[in-house]
Amino acid sequence: MGRATVGDIFLSCLQCGTCTGACPWNLEASYNPRRILRELSLNCGSDRSVDQAVWSCVTCNACGVVCPRGIMIVDVMQAVRALNVSTGKTPGYFKMPLDSLTQSGNPWGGERTNRLQWAEGLDIPGFVPEHDYCLFTCCTTAYDPDSRQAGRAFARLLQTAAVSFGTLGSRETCCGDPAHKMGATDGFAGLVRKNSESLLKAGVHKLLTTSPHCLDAFKNHYPALKDAVASEHYTQLLDRLVARGRLRPVGQVDRIVTFHDPCYLGRHNGIFEAPRRILQSIPGLKLVEMPNNRQGSVCCGGGGGGAWSKDALDQNFSVLRVQEALGTGAEVIATACPYCIRMLNAAVGELGVEDQIVVRDLAELLWQSVSSGDDIKPAEHAEPGLEQEVCHV
Ligand code: SF4
Ligand code: SF4
Repeated sequence: MGRATVGDIFLSCLQCGTCTGACPWNLEASYNPRRILRELSLNCGSDRSVDQAVWSCVTCNACGVVCPRGIMIVDVMQAVRALNVSTGKTPGYFKMPLDSLTQSGNPWGGERTNRLQWAEGLDIPGFVPEHDYCLFTCCTTAYDPDSRQAGRAFARLLQTAAVSFGTLGSRETCCGDPAHKMGATDGFAGLVRKNSESLLKAGVHKLLTTSPHCLDAFKNHYPALKDAVASEHYTQLLDRLVARGRLRPVGQVDRIVTFHDPCYLGRHNGIFEAPRRILQSIPGLKLVEMPNNRQGSVCCGGGGGGAWSKDALDQNFSVLRVQEALGTGAEVIATACPYCIRMLNAAVGELGVEDQIVVRDLAELLWQSVSSGDDIKPAEHAEPGLEQEVCHV
């Protein structure tokens, strides 16, 4: 069944308020998606109560999964955002990422020529049609030193398991998720066109993403790829490689670990168990759950443009999440999304709890076990504004 139109949404909403009860904003402030829907349907909203309010949404879909009518409130938020953008009402904090997307093909202000620095020394070949997989690197994996380590660990795991893969290298450009979620419809359409052409022309049939946001974009918002390219998040492939014995986690990782479900992996795409199976395959690792897990996971605050708007909106979901993780006794927060890594790392710093808990991508933990302690050095080329925070498990 296709997604409901915005008009259908207004007619079917029960005004029950279940969405408002699930929204993470209400953990620290007051935010009312039910009322936004109501005011939109009655056309009685003000600039403040609707147009400005929609920019706070982190598109986490906590509301969508509990709505008794299955309404995707995220779609409504995006539709209003798109209208705002089309009338020149884009918030100032989105100017840098949107300009950077147009000029450099990434939202971080990174140089296009530096896109492959994350993979320095790993000998990842350019994709050819004979490869099984094309590895699509998220812009955050490529330019954020914290996430580069995860990308490098994943590439090492693929090489160890003798997976046949390559990358599009400099032909790679942002999947467009930030533009899509910020309501920059034309910018997103341009990136969809460009990436679709590049992937089809290169002969890609299976795409591996390092971010759940890229997965969501390619899987759900690229009509030209629908029947031609199967997209997978890296945790799905790692899960199979471990299950089939092509990756053997043999080294002890004696740590208490909790898993933070990224919104676009879990609630948006239904992938909850593969990451947990991977963690449970690691000897010595004790997996503990936070009270808010799986469908009920609390957003890190990085989606929907939150990675750029957090400070302007005074939004502290990642701090709440780190506090929740500390409450479980975990020493490590494992996750599987470059935005989550970035937001949670910042929150650990903000709380000053670096000596109690560290943030790790799941691929890093698996690599630590598979390689029995081989070090994965990040390539040392930080782009401006993406300072590195180094922690060791
Ligand atoms: S949970 Fe669904 S039906 Fe209820 S108010 Fe929210 S959008 Fe409407
Ligand atoms: S998507 Fe998340 S932040 Fe946005 S209204 Fe729904 S619950 Fe709130």
